[in-house]
Amino acid sequence: MSLKTIPKSPVYQSNPCYDYAIRLSKKILQQKIPLNDVLEQYYPEYYAKLQETIDSFNQQSPQPIACKKQCDACCHYMVASVPMEAKYIQYSAKNHLSAKELKIVSRKLRQVRSKEREFEKQSPNNIVRQAQLYRLSKIPCPFLKDKTCMIYHYRPMICRYHNVTGSPENCYHPALNNVQAWQHPQLMESDVNFQKFMSHHYLNTSTSGTLNQLLLDHGF
Ligand code: SF4
Repeated sequence: MSLKTIPKSPVYQSNPCYDYAIRLSKKILQQKIPLNDVLEQYYPEYYAKLQETIDSFNQQSPQPIACKKQCDACCHYMVASVPMEAKYIQYSAKNHLSAKELKIVSRKLRQVRSKEREFEKQSPNNIVRQAQLYRLSKIPCPFLKDKTCMIYHYRPMICRYHNVTGSPENCYHPALNNVQAWQHPQLMESDVNFQKFMSHHYLNTSTSGTLNQLLLDHGF
């Protein structure tokens, strides 16, 4: 995969996240940067830019963002990810969580992944249905503790993108009919493309999957 695969279409507007991704991609193609340096320095910087960009986009929302601390509704949804993000979360969790916390998360990860496998068998090749079954089963994320994210500062991109207006209570409703999501599709697309580029460059794979699946694939 080359830099050409990073989108440069006019639909991609300059923003702190996109600009940082382009700079970092060029640097990585020009010089050898060890994976550990990326996980220790560049990925935290990238996620800080991503959050800065999402926060600034959220300020442009026509209605106030309703997401608040201790609301864990979307922490019972299936979380999609890409290999490099899972690697970053695994690396950060091993550095920041206690041995006891890691043991608990590891056990929960395996339990949740076995539920995901059941849904995959029930609805093969239908990720939308699998996600629906997951949500209807109200399975908490392995990183959820006391209604709080244990990996908040290095949480996945998808968790950062999920912002709603209107009542956050709607997110708990099985049908999700009244959820008013405030979305940033172009930012999300360029973010996913960058993460796939990084996955391919450093891990020789860019196959996406659920976060639980990818974490276990990478030895959590
Ligand atoms: S990673 Fe954190 S924010 Fe994302 S679903 Fe899990 S607990 Fe919630």
